[in-house]
Amino acid sequence: MQTAYVTHPACLLHDLGEVHPDAPARLGAIQDKLIAAQLFDWLLQIEAPAASRAQLQRVHDADYIDFIEANAPESGIRQIDADTALTPHSLEAAYRAAGALVAAVDAVMEGRVQNAFCAVRPPGHHAERRRAMGFCIFNNIAVGAAHALETHGLERVAVVDFDVHHGNGTEDIFRHDPRVMICSAFQHPFYPGTPFDDRNPNQINVPLERGARGDAFRAAVTDKILPALDAFRPQMIFISAGFDGHRLDDMSGLILTESDYAWMTEQLAAVARTHAQGRIVSALEGGYDLPALADSVAVHLRALMGI
Ligand SMILES: [Zn+2]
Repeated sequence: MQTAYVTHPACLLHDLGEVHPDAPARLGAIQDKLIAAQLFDWLLQIEAPAASRAQLQRVHDADYIDFIEANAPESGIRQIDADTALTPHSLEAAYRAAGALVAAVDAVMEGRVQNAFCAVRPPGHHAERRRAMGFCIFNNIAVGAAHALETHGLERVAVVDFDVHHGNGTEDIFRHDPRVMICSAFQHPFYPGTPFDDRNPNQINVPLERGARGDAFRAAVTDKILPALDAFRPQMIFISAGFDGHRLDDMSGLILTESDYAWMTEQLAAVARTHAQGRIVSALEGGYDLPALADSVAVHLRALMGI
């Protein structure tokens, strides 16, 4: 079965200026690479719908959504957090980014595709139930996971986050939900610096020291994340796919390569085949060195496509 590629042109319009790392050019670099690698034509293209208010309210407080809507400027850029801002186009981008996850879940659950990758921005994994953070407005991956639980009746889903930053927002949203296991491998100590939970058996946190290479990353995943996933038996795997731990990405101090991202995706695909009928929905989080990002997404998609 095929892999879906879910995106929307509005995700390019959320433009925070030349100095902001989350540039629209990220999505262009990814698409150009997929075309050059002759992968793009094999993907089922899905245009992301806007998430509905009800879909967002599964993971965000109504007051928070009101706050975001009230702060969207008619012109210019308005800061809503130290490094998160809104432009006149940001609301539509944020609603489409979250809606991409809903469409991806539907396509996978209805058997139209085996798995899906959402090429979206703004990213989502730092957005908490009632707080924007770290370039993130709505928690896209959480909207997708909640949709799989509430609409498709799944009982257990896992979110695996290999962005170099801890997925504090996703952890905040699902902290008290035993249906969701969250596995996050990240540089520590590092942004966002929020405390992470070591006692919750459904929250598997794998801090990695600055300078850690692929061997340390793979060992930690093999020792902690894969056994936890096997024991949990998720019916769908969500991936917060951030590629900012790449050795060329100066956002962080990890020294990962494309081969590490390919390996990680293959491991998750194997877990999905064992427990989840192969069902995976992945969404772009970080990754700011454009060539490294594009190369990494290409190997990620190859692994999802099984080629
Ligand atoms: Zn990140």
